[in-house]
Amino acid sequence: MNYCSHCGSDKIVREIPENDHRLRYVCENCNKIYYENPRVVVGTIPVFQNKVLLAKRGIEPQKGKWNLPAGFLEMDETSEQGAIRETTEETGAEISDLSVHTIFQSDSNHLYILFLANLKNNNFNTTPESTEIKFFNADEIPWNELAFTSNKYALESYFSKKDNTDKINFEME
Ligand SMILES: [Zn+2]
Repeated sequence: MNYCSHCGSDKIVREIPENDHRLRYVCENCNKIYYENPRVVVGTIPVFQNKVLLAKRGIEPQKGKWNLPAGFLEMDETSEQGAIRETTEETGAEISDLSVHTIFQSDSNHLYILFLANLKNNNFNTTPESTEIKFFNADEIPWNELAFTSNKYALESYFSKKDNTDKINFEME
Protein backbone atom coordinates (compact mmCIF):
# COMPACT_ATOMS: atom_id res chain seq x y z
CA MET A 1 0.00 0.00 0.00
CA ASN A 2 1.67 3.23 -1.19
CA TYR A 3 -0.89 6.01 -0.89
CA CYS A 4 -3.67 6.83 1.52
CA SER A 5 -6.96 6.53 -0.35
CA HIS A 6 -8.45 9.03 2.09
CA CYS A 7 -6.02 11.97 1.84
CA GLY A 8 -3.58 10.92 -0.90
CA SER A 9 -0.53 11.09 1.34
CA ASP A 10 2.33 8.63 0.84
CA LYS A 11 3.13 8.61 4.57
CA ILE A 12 1.82 5.08 5.14
CA VAL A 13 3.33 3.09 7.99
CA ARG A 14 2.76 -0.40 9.34
CA GLU A 15 2.15 -0.23 13.08
CA ILE A 16 -0.05 -1.43 15.92
CA PRO A 17 -2.51 1.39 16.66
CA GLU A 18 -3.22 2.35 20.24
CA ASN A 19 -5.57 -0.09 21.98
CA ASP A 20 -5.18 -2.53 19.09
CA HIS A 21 -3.26 -5.81 18.96
CA ARG A 22 -2.40 -6.22 15.28
CA LEU A 23 -0.20 -4.51 12.73
CA ARG A 24 -2.23 -2.20 10.47
CA TYR A 25 -1.47 0.17 7.64
CA VAL A 26 -1.86 3.66 9.12
CA CYS A 27 -1.69 7.05 7.38
CA GLU A 28 0.59 9.34 9.38
CA ASN A 29 -0.94 12.37 7.69
CA CYS A 30 -4.68 11.91 8.41
CA ASN A 31 -4.43 9.02 10.93
CA LYS A 32 -6.72 6.75 8.93
CA ILE A 33 -6.30 3.10 9.91
CA TYR A 34 -6.72 0.46 7.20
CA TYR A 35 -8.28 -2.75 8.52
CA GLU A 36 -7.86 -5.89 6.42
CA ASN A 37 -10.42 -8.65 6.88
CA PRO A 38 -11.21 -11.95 5.18
CA ARG A 39 -13.33 -11.78 2.05
CA VAL A 40 -16.67 -13.57 1.90
CA VAL A 41 -17.35 -16.08 -0.89
CA VAL A 42 -20.96 -17.20 -1.36
CA GLY A 43 -22.25 -20.06 -3.48
CA THR A 44 -24.49 -23.09 -3.72
CA ILE A 45 -24.63 -26.84 -3.89
CA PRO A 46 -27.34 -27.03 -6.58
CA VAL A 47 -29.23 -30.31 -6.36
CA PHE A 48 -31.67 -31.93 -8.79
CA GLN A 49 -32.93 -35.49 -8.24
CA ASN A 50 -30.03 -36.25 -5.85
CA LYS A 51 -27.41 -35.09 -8.30
CA VAL A 52 -25.20 -32.03 -7.86
CA LEU A 53 -24.57 -29.51 -10.61
CA LEU A 54 -20.91 -28.61 -11.10
CA ALA A 55 -19.34 -26.15 -13.52
CA LYS A 56 -15.97 -26.40 -15.23
CA ARG A 57 -14.15 -23.13 -14.72
CA GLY A 58 -13.57 -21.06 -17.83
CA ILE A 59 -11.53 -18.45 -15.97
CA GLU A 60 -8.53 -18.34 -13.69
CA PRO A 61 -7.79 -19.28 -11.00
CA GLN A 62 -8.06 -23.06 -11.42
CA LYS A 63 -9.25 -22.78 -15.03
CA GLY A 64 -10.38 -26.19 -16.32
CA LYS A 65 -11.17 -27.55 -12.85
CA TRP A 66 -14.69 -28.27 -11.61
CA ASN A 67 -16.37 -26.15 -8.97
CA LEU A 68 -19.58 -25.35 -7.25
CA PRO A 69 -20.98 -22.00 -8.44
CA ALA A 70 -19.61 -19.39 -6.06
CA GLY A 71 -18.01 -15.97 -5.97
CA PHE A 72 -17.36 -12.90 -3.91
CA LEU A 73 -20.26 -11.35 -2.04
CA GLU A 74 -20.98 -7.83 -3.30
CA MET A 75 -21.74 -4.80 -1.15
CA ASP A 76 -25.46 -4.28 -0.45
CA GLU A 77 -26.55 -7.84 -1.13
CA THR A 78 -27.39 -10.60 1.34
CA SER A 79 -25.36 -13.80 1.30
CA GLU A 80 -28.40 -15.61 -0.13
CA GLN A 81 -28.85 -13.05 -2.91
CA GLY A 82 -25.16 -13.33 -3.73
CA ALA A 83 -25.34 -17.12 -3.87
CA ILE A 84 -28.32 -17.00 -6.25
CA ARG A 85 -26.59 -14.40 -8.44
CA GLU A 86 -23.38 -16.41 -8.67
CA THR A 87 -25.27 -19.60 -9.50
CA THR A 88 -27.10 -17.85 -12.33
CA GLU A 89 -23.94 -16.17 -13.62
CA GLU A 90 -21.99 -19.42 -13.74
CA THR A 91 -24.62 -21.96 -14.74
CA GLY A 92 -27.77 -20.17 -15.91
CA ALA A 93 -29.70 -22.39 -13.49
CA GLU A 94 -32.71 -21.27 -11.47
CA ILE A 95 -32.62 -22.27 -7.82
CA SER A 96 -34.87 -22.06 -4.77
CA ASP A 97 -35.17 -23.19 -1.14
CA LEU A 98 -31.68 -22.16 -0.04
CA SER A 99 -30.40 -23.30 3.34
CA VAL A 100 -26.94 -22.79 4.79
CA HIS A 101 -24.96 -26.01 4.35
CA THR A 102 -21.24 -25.28 4.75
CA ILE A 103 -19.18 -22.58 6.40
CA PHE A 104 -15.54 -23.01 5.45
CA GLN A 105 -12.55 -20.78 6.11
CA SER A 106 -9.72 -21.29 3.67
CA ASP A 107 -6.10 -20.54 4.42
CA SER A 108 -6.21 -17.83 1.78
CA ASN A 109 -8.39 -15.70 4.01
CA HIS A 110 -11.66 -16.45 2.28
CA LEU A 111 -14.75 -17.29 4.29
CA TYR A 112 -17.10 -19.52 2.29
CA ILE A 113 -20.83 -19.67 2.88
CA LEU A 114 -22.31 -22.42 0.71
CA PHE A 115 -26.06 -22.99 0.54
CA LEU A 116 -27.82 -26.20 -0.34
CA ALA A 117 -30.31 -25.29 -3.07
CA ASN A 118 -32.92 -27.00 -5.22
CA LEU A 119 -32.85 -26.55 -8.96
CA LYS A 120 -36.31 -25.57 -10.19
CA ASN A 121 -35.75 -27.58 -13.38
CA ASN A 122 -32.85 -29.11 -15.26
CA ASN A 123 -32.26 -26.09 -17.46
CA PHE A 124 -28.76 -24.67 -17.42
CA ASN A 125 -26.23 -23.30 -19.87
CA THR A 126 -22.55 -22.58 -20.19
CA THR A 127 -21.49 -18.99 -19.63
CA PRO A 128 -18.28 -16.99 -20.12
CA GLU A 129 -17.30 -18.21 -16.64
CA SER A 130 -18.07 -21.90 -17.24
CA THR A 131 -17.10 -24.00 -20.26
CA GLU A 132 -19.00 -27.13 -19.25
CA ILE A 133 -21.81 -27.88 -16.80
CA LYS A 134 -22.89 -31.34 -15.67
CA PHE A 135 -24.80 -33.25 -13.03
CA PHE A 136 -22.83 -35.63 -10.85
CA ASN A 137 -23.86 -38.27 -8.34
CA ALA A 138 -21.55 -39.37 -5.52
CA ASP A 139 -19.80 -41.95 -7.71
CA GLU A 140 -19.14 -39.49 -10.47
CA ILE A 141 -17.74 -36.47 -8.61
CA PRO A 142 -14.29 -35.72 -10.08
CA TRP A 143 -12.65 -35.52 -6.65
CA ASN A 144 -9.16 -34.98 -8.05
CA GLU A 145 -10.27 -32.28 -10.46
CA LEU A 146 -12.11 -30.02 -8.04
CA ALA A 147 -10.91 -26.42 -8.01
CA PHE A 148 -11.09 -25.63 -4.33
CA THR A 149 -10.74 -27.35 -0.95
CA SER A 150 -13.95 -25.65 0.17
CA ASN A 151 -15.79 -27.50 -2.61
CA LYS A 152 -14.31 -30.87 -1.61
CA TYR A 153 -15.27 -30.23 1.97
CA ALA A 154 -18.84 -29.25 1.09
CA LEU A 155 -19.40 -32.12 -1.35
CA GLU A 156 -17.90 -34.70 1.00
CA SER A 157 -20.14 -33.40 3.71
CA TYR A 158 -23.18 -33.45 1.44
CA PHE A 159 -22.68 -36.98 0.12
CA SER A 160 -21.60 -38.41 3.48
CA LYS A 161 -25.12 -37.73 4.71
CA LYS A 162 -26.44 -39.99 1.98
CA ASP A 163 -26.40 -43.80 1.98
CA ASN A 164 -23.42 -44.32 -0.29
CA THR A 165 -20.63 -43.04 1.94
CA ASP A 166 -18.57 -46.18 1.47
CA LYS A 167 -18.03 -45.23 -2.14
CA ILE A 168 -16.29 -42.01 -1.27
CA ASN A 169 -12.58 -42.08 -0.64
CA PHE A 170 -11.75 -38.55 0.30
CA GLU A 171 -8.96 -36.93 2.26
CA MET A 172 -8.65 -33.28 3.12
CA GLU A 173 -5.68 -31.58 1.51
ZN1 LIG B 1 -4.37 9.83 4.90
